Amino acid sequence: MAHQVPEDGSLLPLMEEFYTIQGEGYHTGKAAYFIRLGGCDVGCHWCDVKESWDAALHPLTAADTIIEHAKQYPSKTVVVTGGEPLLYNLDYLTRGLQAAGIKTFIETSGAYPLSGHWDWICLSPKKFKWPLPDVIAAAGELKVIVFNKSDFAWAEKHASLVPPACRLYLQPEWSKAAEITPLIVDYVKQHPKWEISLQTHKYLNIP
Ligand code: SF4
Repeated sequence: MAHQVPEDGSLLPLMEEFYTIQGEGYHTGKAAYFIRLGGCDVGCHWCDVKESWDAALHPLTAADTIIEHAKQYPSKTVVVTGGEPLLYNLDYLTRGLQAAGIKTFIETSGAYPLSGHWDWICLSPKKFKWPLPDVIAAAGELKVIVFNKSDFAWAEKHASLVPPACRLYLQPEWSKAAEITPLIVDYVKQHPKWEISLQTHKYLNIP
């Protein structure tokens, strides 16, 4: 990673930011301002944002500027995603957002230590770099991407680790959705503690 990101998180490699509808998981259907940070070394072969991986391609941006942008939108909710956002110290960004009355949600693989002040943590664990215990313990939502049949066992392993109130979602990997979604439907009918998450923003053709 070529950037020297300050340890206090006052500058962050910003890939993109946009106002849209959350398409996945527990908050599906809600308007939110998305902040996508560059940088990820988890290495999911099916990743649909590989252009995020190299943090050096994404300009270091003042967290204060990001906060000012977020304040301009009617939904007082921000989703911090990536890349893997927990590569960075997110205390500064999230403290500033919450001070502005904005709710802070994160989407993370959990592969790096938890930082930041969060109103909602969506843990989406990946086999390629397992999540850390502190992130697992704080998850409000476990969202497992199902790429093949063996991922159901992987999902159950993590369901046994998250807090009892954590919501459980199975989401088909987009490129295999036609094949995998019927398996998830059957699985959820047999194991109703799980719910289906679909990438509805892709069906709606919005970011
Ligand atoms: Fe892509 Fe997310 Fe996997 Fe990183 S953790 S490789 S951004 S899907």
